[in-house]
Amino acid sequence: MSLLEGKVAVVTGGTRGIGFAIVRKYLEHGAKVMLFGSRPETVTHALKSLHEENSAWVVDGLNPKLTAPAEVEAAINQTKDRFGRLDILVNNAGISQSQSIYDYKPEEIDQVIDLNVKALLYAILPAVKIMKYQGGGVILNTSSMVSITGQPSGVGYPTSKFAVNGMTISLARELGKDHIRVNAVAPGVTNTDMVAALPHEVVSSISAAIPLGRPGEPEEVADAFVYLASDMASYVTGEILSVDGACRT
Ligand code: NAD
Repeated sequence: MSLLEGKVAVVTGGTRGIGFAIVRKYLEHGAKVMLFGSRPETVTHALKSLHEENSAWVVDGLNPKLTAPAEVEAAINQTKDRFGRLDILVNNAGISQSQSIYDYKPEEIDQVIDLNVKALLYAILPAVKIMKYQGGGVILNTSSMVSITGQPSGVGYPTSKFAVNGMTISLARELGKDHIRVNAVAPGVTNTDMVAALPHEVVSSISAAIPLGRPGEPEEVADAFVYLASDMASYVTGEILSVDGACRT
């Protein structure tokens, strides 16, 4: 079933982990995709592996600095020029943190808020202008289960994801009249590099509390992004969809 035939999507942080799984699923469902990555090498590597998997997939890549508004605006506009439209923006790139509040440096707070919060809005600003002109669109943000539960250290990360939820709900209310739906997906512990980088004891203590008894796979999270981007979710907006095996502690 091709749920996204004819749609054009941007996926930030699309070179690996959850973002790469979203890119693959979107291509499988017939979308054309512009993936954004942080470095030219990782973009090239991701594109090569996608083209090897299916040479008919229409996918390209850019590496704007997501915390630089002018670069992001140019990349969004370049996507529209390249593919003729923009239907779906997936704000997925993000960093996590796990340090104690007693060890935090002010610049670490700036880092997580700049990438996990402000950069989403930098992409949304040019995207909504294109979507409004086209008659509608979809914005999807990657939140986290910690936007509901908080976490025992690394407060900058849950702070940023609570902000993502607020941005999502608020923009859904503002943009409904322009037929732009805005939703977020809140993954639980998911098998990606981000999780591999966390201290073992943090991962195992979280995993032990997952009712489904295992971490999620990036593809399972990506399926939620397919649903929310598709017309199957035509009356869903302002929703934070948990994909976390009911891990809420
Ligand atoms: P990952 O580290 O594998 O991927 C993160 C992506 O963000 C990469 O593509 C990376 O290139 C990009 N990125 C990181 N820093 C960047 C920067 N400065 N500029 C541009 N791009 C940058 O992690 P992931 O688990 O796939 O994370 C994707 C999203 O999912 C993030 O928003 C994360 O907060 C969220 N999330 C992950 C989990 C999990 O368990 N893995 C759980 C909840 C939420």
